[in-house]
Amino acid sequence: MIEVRDLVKVYSLGDTELRALDGVSLTVGDGEFVAVMGASGSGKSTFMNMLGCLDRPTSGEYLLDGVAVGGLSKDRLAELRNRTIGFVFQGFNLLARTSAIENVELPMLYNGMSAGQRREKAMATLAEVGLEGREHHFPNQLSGGQQQRVAIARALVNSPSLIFADEPTGNLDTKTGGEIMRIFCRLNEDKGITVVLVTHELDIAGYARRRIHFRDGRVVEDDRSGGGCR
Ligand code: ADP
Ligand code: MG
Repeated sequence: MIEVRDLVKVYSLGDTELRALDGVSLTVGDGEFVAVMGASGSGKSTFMNMLGCLDRPTSGEYLLDGVAVGGLSKDRLAELRNRTIGFVFQGFNLLARTSAIENVELPMLYNGMSAGQRREKAMATLAEVGLEGREHHFPNQLSGGQQQRVAIARALVNSPSLIFADEPTGNLDTKTGGEIMRIFCRLNEDKGITVVLVTHELDIAGYARRRIHFRDGRVVEDDRSGGGCR
């Protein structure tokens, strides 16, 4: 379970301060499927980076399964991130000149698995997201939707219990975006993975069972009515 209490993130810009997060408190239970919504600049990405342990808050608490993330050493935090959390970005963030399968193998490098075991797991995970036969393609040989599938496979390969995605369909057309959302649905419904994703599109947010709206670094609405994967 995710629990944040009074999360604040302040960026200093010369002599002024910008409160990107201005006291966010909420919980997300195991197995939830949540959409984070709000206008550009409302703090969505800042919030996701905190949840994904990619950045630390200025103040406030973040508990992951009861463990205070802020108190962990750099190494423990890196380990937690690698084992528990998968992150998916709008721009895919794949390594160029690196094949799909090598991109997916990367998070397993420090797991003590043999090269053969890594290859086998990466093959299976790519097949799971519908990329059988594309393992040796480079990112520039794949469509946007296929690149995002590689990124999802990379996020999945260490069997995380949480997936955080920041506008994962933002660079994709509507049909491809829907296909990517159905992958998240499957991960949530069949594997019980908790999914938190940012979107500003209502039809994309409609796949989630809960919509949290940000404005000016604060949560202004938390809506659990309707929605869900069809
Ligand atoms: P969103 O993802 O909702 O568009 P962000 O979380 O990216 O919003 O940004 C929230 C606010 O914080 C914005 O005003 C943005 O300009 C500011 N901001 C984000 N990252 C930084 C940074 N590294 N340095 C300074 N200001 C930042
Ligand atoms: Mg953003």
